[in-house]
Amino acid sequence: MDRRKFCQLVSAGVATGTLGLWPLRALAVSGGTYTVKSGDTLSQIAQRFGTSVSAIRYQNGITGDLIRVGQVLQLPGDDFLSNVKRVSEPMRGGLRSWRYIVVHHAGVNTGNAKIYDNYHRNSVGMRNGLAYHFVIGNGSKSGDGEIEIGSRWDRQLNGGHVRSAKVNDKGIGICLVGNFQEGRPSARQIAALTALGGYLRDLVPTRTRFAGHREIDGRNHTVCPGKYFPTAQMHRQFPNEW
Ligand SMILES: [Zn+2]
Repeated sequence: MDRRKFCQLVSAGVATGTLGLWPLRALAVSGGTYTVKSGDTLSQIAQRFGTSVSAIRYQNGITGDLIRVGQVLQLPGDDFLSNVKRVSEPMRGGLRSWRYIVVHHAGVNTGNAKIYDNYHRNSVGMRNGLAYHFVIGNGSKSGDGEIEIGSRWDRQLNGGHVRSAKVNDKGIGICLVGNFQEGRPSARQIAALTALGGYLRDLVPTRTRFAGHREIDGRNHTVCPGKYFPTAQMHRQFPNEW
């Protein structure tokens, strides 16, 4: 397998971008309501608002897919973590000794966990599929800010997201959909990453260190997670614990 393919769909050439403040206020956005228009489907609405069909169903007591024009839907609040918590809380006590939380960009502007899993499994030949533990969508093929959970997290398997075996063994991999050599992550992606990072730090019993991919895998000459990813703000938000 060739791990160099990951996050390397963009050419090398690291530059430092000047970036605005980490948009933490996005976390405080409330759910609000949405009035169904002609042609809307639940999955379109979920994607547009960065949530899931099941979350909208739950919030509104809907069991099937039927919605009607003019119906006012309550949108779930910005609880990016509901699925992550549902999966992870029962795993307390059985977690790997994680030491790193490594952030990536996909290097492409669209995708989701299933698409990257298919690529890693069938094109790169990784037996365990999706090389990351989490994928944070940008509204293209999953919700904007939606956190998808990879099977490597469920099974507490090592990642396949960097070249160093040591870091893969101890590193939780989080991939944000997008190419941050060309543009910035969305506010909702950053809000979701902030929520996820804080939760993971609390969850794992070991002390962790955040890193952008290129900071920890220098010999790979990767630009990941891209010059427009707010690396400095990430480090201020999540100081090294060791
Ligand atoms: Zn990467």
